[in-house]
Amino acid sequence: MKEQSKHEELLHGYIGILSKIQHYREMAGLAHWDMATYAPKEGKGIRSEAIGTLSTEAFKMSVSKEIERLLTELSKEEHFNILPEKYQKSIEKDIKHLEKFQKIPEDQYRDYVILTSKAQNVWEKAKADNDFNTFEPYLEKIVDFNQRMAELLGYEGHPYNALIDRFEEGMTVKKLDTTFSELKEGIQTILRKIQKSSKTPNKRLESVNLPVEKQKILSELVLTKIGYDFDAGRLDESVHPFTIGLNPKDVRVTTRYQENFFKTALFGTIHEGGHGMYEQNIPMELFNTSVGSAASTGMHESQSRFWENVVGRSEAFWKGLLPEFQALFQEEVQDITLEEMVEYINLVEPSTIRVEADELTYSLHIILRYELEKDLIEGKISVKDLPKLWNEKMKEIIGIEPKDNREGVLQDIHWAGGMIGYFPTYALGNLYSVQLTEALKKDIGDFSSHIENQNFALIKEWMVKKVHHRGNLRTAEELIEEITGERLSVKPYLSYLDDKYKKVYQY
Ligand code: ZN
Repeated sequence: MKEQSKHEELLHGYIGILSKIQHYREMAGLAHWDMATYAPKEGKGIRSEAIGTLSTEAFKMSVSKEIERLLTELSKEEHFNILPEKYQKSIEKDIKHLEKFQKIPEDQYRDYVILTSKAQNVWEKAKADNDFNTFEPYLEKIVDFNQRMAELLGYEGHPYNALIDRFEEGMTVKKLDTTFSELKEGIQTILRKIQKSSKTPNKRLESVNLPVEKQKILSELVLTKIGYDFDAGRLDESVHPFTIGLNPKDVRVTTRYQENFFKTALFGTIHEGGHGMYEQNIPMELFNTSVGSAASTGMHESQSRFWENVVGRSEAFWKGLLPEFQALFQEEVQDITLEEMVEYINLVEPSTIRVEADELTYSLHIILRYELEKDLIEGKISVKDLPKLWNEKMKEIIGIEPKDNREGVLQDIHWAGGMIGYFPTYALGNLYSVQLTEALKKDIGDFSSHIENQNFALIKEWMVKKVHHRGNLRTAEELIEEITGERLSVKPYLSYLDDKYKKVYQY
């Protein structure tokens, strides 16, 4: 009886701390969402500090003496062995986190959160002014902190391994080098075939303006169709679209409307919707444990890429949606044909801007950033040389050169936010998305006709069951193998791309 009540007390204490951490993170997340959507411009500096305080408190709790005591007790055989799997896995994850992050001094952590929050505002202005120099000292501090953090966290092999592990557990430079070189070569081969092709896709839609109000209707319509739950979610606008899962019952996505370029909002919305559905379908029974989140950032990205590209840019999807699109925009583009639409949304035109990149060259943008980040962390290159190196690499990998830093090194917010080691997950998401599609096709039969008939519930349910419901009980590497029987692989993605562009560009 006594032992039983001690066990209960420990577990109760542990869950209590986890929910307190969740509450702080939820409020920091809400403050961040507000800052990115509706908060007045001048309030952002002070807000950054509030977010810094809330995040630091959550961090302190996650490495506190109290949680250490509870984890030590709960990991003793007599307690651990009688716990359900979700608590066992949660405890293992928290011990790993504790051992690593206890080494990071609290004041440094807080300084860093504030630094990155401010750096994002500095970056925003620097980008608008095309002025790398004002951003440079901030980025230097951020790189410096990340280098020190890699040493504190510890790693085998390359220091960058310590950083990517935060987003993609178990991923390493060694694996990425192999994967990305195969991916780069494969994409460049397809790109050359396209550039040699004599087919000129129809670009009439490029010069069409679609009113924002109608685009909003389209965004909401498509989100609802694919299964995004508006009773547990919202859709708002922000300069940089994002998804934030405050908890599974309050998930918020944002998008950005451009009257003369409807692809931004539509595909951005579907993309974030994919992220949003992952967050909405993390099972409540895993909530408030450390396995109640996505398997990895790359797996998260697989969900957004799946809906955006595999589904949203497919011919089958537009066979189903086109009549509704025509009805909505009958004054603007009523006579648009299926062929025109499919060609337009699958145009391949190397661009200097990652977020405007076509599906084919997108991963090349990621590989460029990966190569630079890796060298920065290793100390092989320095921040001040970045603008030049960026432009050279872009020429080498994608074949074009940015006209200024605004469309070069200053284009992304990630480094300002301290997210070094994050970019590779975008390309991994592409690879996972197609591996998952292959497995899905085996289970549900005629994939294309389900999409054409807008039978999205069936597809979503498969993703929920196979991916979302697993939370973080498996790493992405384990999960992809569990679902598909294969490890991370470039081949399915490359043949998916080749099949698609062969049709569009008739090579
Ligand atoms: Zn994404």
